[in-house]
Amino acid sequence: MPVADYIPTIGLEIHVHLKTRSKMFCACATSYGDDPNTRTCPTCLGLPGALPVLNEEAIKMTILTGQLLGAVTPEFCKWDRKNYFYADMPKNYQISQYDQPLVVGGRIPLYDQYFPKHQRGGAGADGVLATVPLTRIHLEEDAGKSTHFGTSSGLDYNRAGTPLMEIVTDPAISTADEAAALLASLRQILVYAGVSDADMERGQMRCDVNVSVRKSAAEPLGAKIELKNINSVAAVRRAIVFEIERQCGELDRGLAQRQETRRWDDERGESTDMRGKEDAHDYRYFPDPDLQPVCTTQWLNEVRSRLPELPHALRARFGHDYGLTPYDAGVLTSEPALAAYFEEAAAGSSKAKSVANWIINELLGRLNEGQTDFSANPVSAAALRELVDLVEGGGISGAQAKEVFSEMFATGGAPAAIVQARGFSQVSDTGALDGFVQQVLAANPDLVARIQAGEAKVVNVLVGQVMKASGGKANPKRVSELLAQALG
Ligand SMILES: [Zn+2]
Repeated sequence: MPVADYIPTIGLEIHVHLKTRSKMFCACATSYGDDPNTRTCPTCLGLPGALPVLNEEAIKMTILTGQLLGAVTPEFCKWDRKNYFYADMPKNYQISQYDQPLVVGGRIPLYDQYFPKHQRGGAGADGVLATVPLTRIHLEEDAGKSTHFGTSSGLDYNRAGTPLMEIVTDPAISTADEAAALLASLRQILVYAGVSDADMERGQMRCDVNVSVRKSAAEPLGAKIELKNINSVAAVRRAIVFEIERQCGELDRGLAQRQETRRWDDERGESTDMRGKEDAHDYRYFPDPDLQPVCTTQWLNEVRSRLPELPHALRARFGHDYGLTPYDAGVLTSEPALAAYFEEAAAGSSKAKSVANWIINELLGRLNEGQTDFSANPVSAAALRELVDLVEGGGISGAQAKEVFSEMFATGGAPAAIVQARGFSQVSDTGALDGFVQQVLAANPDLVARIQAGEAKVVNVLVGQVMKASGGKANPKRVSELLAQALG
């Protein structure tokens, strides 16, 4: 039976490093790129007698994430030990949350710009194309990092104890494209919420993928196959496509699927058998005797008083307040700093649409060319607004404005100073232009006669003559208006 006739069911477990200054249960700094084992203490090394202390900020960030995704935070949550042995786990157990997590339910919105072009239709003004239900979000600690050399392995415990938020979706995703869009949308939301940089390349966001297939909707879900620790959106997409085909192929050959954990090898583009999937009882979860259950009421109230605006709300507002197209609003809300920059530049300008065009076409274009991100932007919002005012007010031509922008981008200079230094200006003043218009009309009686006989397009020749007479400084729009008046 063709792969397309099988029904795939996909669920994601997404691990996110929270952007706290210190670790989950000790005062060690969270860090990236420090020398190995320089950010450790008896607690995160699991030495006997060391006791964990909760990181309040990590708890608030997790509750905030839940609130932003429309989820519920129960009044009480508790901490459990998940027992397993692995060299990068110094305590031989991980402190996690088993049956009473911080967050239950909620939905993740999927933004249209993260789908392939042909699938983008149907989103509203906020760009939300679909939503995927969440099962839960809980808080735990990360393990250390092992690096394998030829005949030995190195262990770095700097990462051990970093606050790790685990976001678990329902098995409600049906394509690789949807899974990829979910990860990209979620990353954008987490960055907006300020809870994580969620950079997959730096390991700040990692994903386990559960995939099963079945022959018809009437059948129960197939055996759940888990692919562990995938590190990029592109790799998640490839892993799902591969895994669906592999499972369909086995079912076609009559091989029953069993629950298991597989390793995704992105370089070889295939998944390989790793181990039979553990059930919860394999981990012998029990409540951590060193940590009290916590009451969440006070944190919840605090978090609710400072909920940030999410990308899709901002996108809808940009469309409504500034008259932007959904596409433009989507580009400008792709990151919080860019959205804030647009709002600052558009404030008090009657030409918000034009401000948006300059940012998207010129500024982002230049930044892309130089492969730099928005944080390196050398043009202040005030300077961009000034440039847009100059060109929209007829002070300089569009071509001149592009030259001025180039210099602003290269030197960070102010538009008015650049215009003056280059001798750019555009004459819009009626008194000054009228002389050129009369001069050109007097010199071209034949063209005037043709226009009056109905050849309307000939007027462009006259516009060109006036521009030439003014030394290229006349505002062409104003010249057209004056010629139209003169020719009655
Ligand atoms: Zn520590």
